Amino acid sequence: MNSMINITLPDGSVRQYESGISPMGIALSISEGLARNVLSAVVNDIQVESTTPITEDANVQLLTWNDDLGKKAFWHSSAHLLAQSIMEFYPNAKLTIGPAIENGFYYDVDFGDESFSDADFDRIEKKMLENAKKKAEFSLYPVSKADALKEYANNEYKTELIENLNDGEITFCTHDNFTDLCRGGHIPNTGVVKAVKVLNAAGAYWRGDEKNPQLTRVYGISFPKQKDLTEYLELLEEAKKRDHRKLGKELGFFTFSEKVGQGLPLWLPKGATLRRKLENFLMKAQQKAGYEMVITPHIGHKDLYVTSGHYAKYGADSFQPIHTPNEGEEFLLRPMNCPHHCEVYKSSQWSYRDLPKRYAEFGTVYRYEQSGELHGLTRVRGFTQDDAHLFCTPDQLLDEFKNVIDLVLYVFNTLGFDDFVTQVSLRDPDNKEKYIGSDENWEKAESAIIQAAKEKGLKTIVEYGEAAFYGPKLDFMVKDALGRRWQLGTIQVDYNLPERFELTYMGSDNKQYTPVMIHRAPFGSMERFVAILLEHTAGNFPLWLSPEPFIVLPISEKYEEYGKKVSKLLENHDIRGLIDNRNEKTGKKIRDAEMSKIPYMLIVGEKEAENGTVSVRKHGEGDLGEMTLEEFKEKIIKEIEIN
Ligand SMILES: [Zn+2]
Ligand SMILES: [Zn+2]
Repeated sequence: MNSMINITLPDGSVRQYESGISPMGIALSISEGLARNVLSAVVNDIQVESTTPITEDANVQLLTWNDDLGKKAFWHSSAHLLAQSIMEFYPNAKLTIGPAIENGFYYDVDFGDESFSDADFDRIEKKMLENAKKKAEFSLYPVSKADALKEYANNEYKTELIENLNDGEITFCTHDNFTDLCRGGHIPNTGVVKAVKVLNAAGAYWRGDEKNPQLTRVYGISFPKQKDLTEYLELLEEAKKRDHRKLGKELGFFTFSEKVGQGLPLWLPKGATLRRKLENFLMKAQQKAGYEMVITPHIGHKDLYVTSGHYAKYGADSFQPIHTPNEGEEFLLRPMNCPHHCEVYKSSQWSYRDLPKRYAEFGTVYRYEQSGELHGLTRVRGFTQDDAHLFCTPDQLLDEFKNVIDLVLYVFNTLGFDDFVTQVSLRDPDNKEKYIGSDENWEKAESAIIQAAKEKGLKTIVEYGEAAFYGPKLDFMVKDALGRRWQLGTIQVDYNLPERFELTYMGSDNKQYTPVMIHRAPFGSMERFVAILLEHTAGNFPLWLSPEPFIVLPISEKYEEYGKKVSKLLENHDIRGLIDNRNEKTGKKIRDAEMSKIPYMLIVGEKEAENGTVSVRKHGEGDLGEMTLEEFKEKIIKEIEIN
């Protein structure tokens, strides 16, 4: 006999169903149109199959393509289709893992002695679509550990995965003629996959460890409509054009030298100017917010990082200590600025009236990354954080944290990143030994962040296991002009380092107390931020950030003197540009300036020299006509001052 259960939907409405109803059954009871679009469901915060029976009162959210988790189910299921199709062409290949990712999915495959290349993409795509058309349903079912191991006796990768699972918690998923080890989260059937693209095949180590065998990672993406795929591929094209590694080279912003070392960027004059402008902008905002600048060294005694816990946490996997000619002294390239700033705090005795202390530094840090992980300016071995550490009393924590949020939002708004979400990154409750500090400190720190984000009205998602090893954090993820998400600024609360460094302040009762520390970096790092800014703006920076806001183009040698006068006039107002004295035709000079994305081109010849004017051309807009020097000067000053 079936009993009735209450299903609460996201809008708060409650519907009654017979026990055993599936999310798809609920969708069908609402409308057939909805049922057609349902890809997956969340029941009491857990993502399930659309066919999973519900046997007790529950909160149910039906997921479609418009939900991130809906897309995840779509792409997870597409990874099954990819694996199925690969196995049809390469029956001896060994499958390993194949998750959904932010855009699409991949499958890591050991092709053994056989080769897999770009030439395979086309037939794999065709096979995937052919298999998708069968509208095969995904069915998830439990398998005993012994049976699972027997099934994968010839696949050491799956064997390793299964060995790490508990008997009774192992499931397989079958669709059509294909079965895979899987935890679930599928779309109802393969038929909704209407467009598929295999994007790339690249080397990847089993479990990301270079000591392990190398596999082939096959990347793909799929969509419910062909039109969506076409749009996505256009976006990829645009992203390629904006790739900061390409733009950075074309615009002469930065370079790398094998002699200096991989992952160690060299900032060229134009890039250095842009970076300096960003630093000045942030310094001004920080000054207003009561920060003080400090400067500390790029290396530190090993003991410093033993005290901070960095050595125990990262020592073995990072750059190894530097030994001095004298025995017994060991230094490390600093992986973080915080320990140095703790010692800065310690240089004086503070009373509660002196707090908060806010120390800021553009601090360069060094972290070892495997060479295969390096990527332009976004993944490097040496980078400069726009770092600051705030030391305050527990009573001041909430206000300080909110002030930091305000500063981060001000930075984002000024730079045109107005679409962002925030993530509260907490400790993994099942893996507490990965973190330093007491439960009590962690709970205090975590609740401070949650409350500050709430009071500031931020849209937040909560992620467990994403905290730093010394404290929880609030991360800002911005969307760029192409809709891609990037992690930028971060704010962290830390009760632990102040204890480890024995930092104190005197309370109003004349007793000594431990301050709370906030770590924050609105840009994250200068390298990463410039990379993102390059891709976001395609190199068309707002005028105030432009490394070369104008270029003077004399039409012949005769007008060079006048050109210099124009340039000098603007320089007197701290606006520094270029002058193109090459013996080239004006048309060529204009084309080159357009290519360099210089905002203003000032053409000067006989008429301009006589009238005391410039003929102004704006990048991407064309001719603005003749202006007196005074008029142009006023115009450019006003535009720069907006920020
Ligand atoms: Zn699956
Ligand atoms: Zn820090």
